[in-house]
Amino acid sequence: MDTVGSELIEDGWFREINEKGFPGQGLMLKVERVLYHSRSEFQDILVFQSSAYGNVLVLDGIVQATERDEFAYQEMITHIPLYAHKNPRKVLVIGGGDGGVLREVVKHKGVVSATLVEIDETVIKLAQKYLPGMACSFNHAKVQVKLQDGFEFLRNVAASDERYDVIITDSSDPEGPAEAFFQKEYFELLHSALNDNGIVIAQASENVWLNLDYIRELVKSAGAVFPRAQYCYTTVPTYTSGQLGLIVCAKNKKSDLEHAIREPTIEEQSQMRYYNTAIHSASFILPTWAYHRIYKS
Ligand code: SAM
Repeated sequence: MDTVGSELIEDGWFREINEKGFPGQGLMLKVERVLYHSRSEFQDILVFQSSAYGNVLVLDGIVQATERDEFAYQEMITHIPLYAHKNPRKVLVIGGGDGGVLREVVKHKGVVSATLVEIDETVIKLAQKYLPGMACSFNHAKVQVKLQDGFEFLRNVAASDERYDVIITDSSDPEGPAEAFFQKEYFELLHSALNDNGIVIAQASENVWLNLDYIRELVKSAGAVFPRAQYCYTTVPTYTSGQLGLIVCAKNKKSDLEHAIREPTIEEQSQMRYYNTAIHSASFILPTWAYHRIYKS
């Protein structure tokens, strides 16, 4: 990370520059006003009002969510595993302090409990203040919030009898408090914390344009632990290159991750702006060069 927070605002433009993660390219958003900037115990946090994307949450200099395009991320990371599972009842969200994933999880009538494990309470509080459209489900009857390191939480779950049907890792990028989520040991803990037909999904922090080899290694690490590990993606204009990859894995090798095995009800579908069963399947289809590099080389 070169610079963080408000140092990245120059001449009224926020610049996301991360030479390690995204060398040689960046993202710019025009700033109307800075709403918050400080360093929490865990990370640098900036919230600003942009002229084109509503309020924007930035952690350690990297855009996490904007009001205008967040649904493309939250809906896909949530509904792909939930509709690929025949009866998801217990859901765990690691990270996700902006609340957008929780908002999507509780749309599923069959889900009886949704636990969110967020390391940084400041993110939750700021989301409630500045991103109310995302942070609207923290007080839902099915929701429990734990303020803890997600890796540590999972280690305790793996050593206990507690098991989940779906686990969603909605973390920040690997440089910072989320570093451990991109390693093989994390996939092993996820595997232990799942029921037999369980499914996990994690944001891959990259896409095919940025670092194909990194994605290939991540799919390999996940595939060394899970019998099924696949890459899919969603399109989000305010993530560098406009796409974000997701790694989805199943504990049962017969699970068909690429298709929704349940249709959303009419009520559920009416609450979704990005997800539908056609885009669920389409999100696994890769361009030829990327498919070969990830799966065949
Ligand atoms: N959608 C975003 C993206 O990929 O750009 C990520 C969402 S953001 C809400 C990720 C959250 O993960 C942050 O609130 C951060 O505090 C949390 N997080 C990072 N490391 C964590 C850890 N070790 N345990 C739990 N939460 C963590």
